[in-house]
Amino acid sequence: MPNRRRVVETLTQDVVGAQVFNGLIGECVSMPHADYEAVQDATAAILERVVRAVDWPRLLREASFRHDIVHPDQEPSAEDWSPATGVCGECLAEAMLADDLGAQDWERKPTIPREHSSTDWPATVARTFDHREGAGWHPYK
Ligand SMILES: [Zn+2]
Repeated sequence: MPNRRRVVETLTQDVVGAQVFNGLIGECVSMPHADYEAVQDATAAILERVVRAVDWPRLLREASFRHDIVHPDQEPSAEDWSPATGVCGECLAEAMLADDLGAQDWERKPTIPREHSSTDWPATVARTFDHREGAGWHPYK
């Protein structure tokens, strides 16, 4: 499954929960399908904003540094669809989550803690959404 679709489906389910679909027509039947599609569009917008925000050269550099330190002898696995050298999926994921301002110290901290895996982010967004207008700035106006 393409990563875009995986991300959109994951974020959409975070927002609306598990829904029921009519397999014949491929439409959500447990909530208005147009609303379901609107949430999918919104989560695709989040993904597109993340893609624009990521410093890709930095990500690749951090992942490559980590790979050299943590997996110096790793050969591309047979499961890799398109084996890359000098980096792997695990190192890309850790580099994406790295938060040190300078170069990440991968020897001291090879794994970034996942501190938000149980955060109900849609509920937090819904609860705090009204504050957006109060700041006098709106990203889409
Ligand atoms: Zn690696």
